[in-house]
Amino acid sequence: MKTPNIIAIDGPAASGKSTVGAILARDLGYLFFDTGVMYRAVTLAVINSDIPIKDEVKVTHLAETIRIDVNPPSLDDGRAYDVFLDGCDVTWDIRLPEVNYSVSPVSAYRGVRLAMTQQQRRIGMRGNVVMVGRDIGSVVCPEAELKIYLDASIEERARRRLIEVQGRGEEVDYKETLDSLIMRDRIDSTRTIAPLKITEDAVVINTDKLSIEEVVMKVKELIEDV
Ligand code: C5P
Repeated sequence: MKTPNIIAIDGPAASGKSTVGAILARDLGYLFFDTGVMYRAVTLAVINSDIPIKDEVKVTHLAETIRIDVNPPSLDDGRAYDVFLDGCDVTWDIRLPEVNYSVSPVSAYRGVRLAMTQQQRRIGMRGNVVMVGRDIGSVVCPEAELKIYLDASIEERARRRLIEVQGRGEEVDYKETLDSLIMRDRIDSTRTIAPLKITEDAVVINTDKLSIEEVVMKVKELIEDV
């Protein structure tokens, strides 16, 4: 048995990708690469500039010129990694509601995806990596030896996201969280370029009734079978 060099985990928001991916990477001694962080950083950069989200040309230009770094965590405040945008620590800012609101429209732009995909692929092709996102198995690393699609009902995902956000001491309500996920799901799965979809060679795991540990166990069983 040889552990797959690239493990791709795709799925909708709050399906457990990042939590499962991080544990798996730690246990395998692999790099954990959460590609959503990059789209979030671009979106934050757009919000912080005076460029309107609708201005595809300027948003794309910004995506091509900013520098995003993801490093091991430097603070013990619940973060899984540090995210830097042009040298500034934006680890928590990329989780703000305004970023959640605009990240899907920004991620749908062709030029933005091209810029992000090229960087992601470069990192993925080094191997020994667990990559999570929406298009890892379909576009970024179609050669991944193991492709997982994590799914869960929209209600369960909203419940999880609510607990996560409340855990950070932020105020949110269930309906707002649910609506935000529904909107992102719709944009992410209907965009023309690299939409969220289940590839034919992916293994789908519905995590509705599974704990994190159970999902990790299932993925490890799949690793054994590769
Ligand atoms: O995974 P996360 O929820 O942090 O991703 C934020 C957004 O980034 C997604 O809703 C999606 O619009 C975009 N994304 C993407 N492709 C990826 C990862 C994330 O389009 N590979």
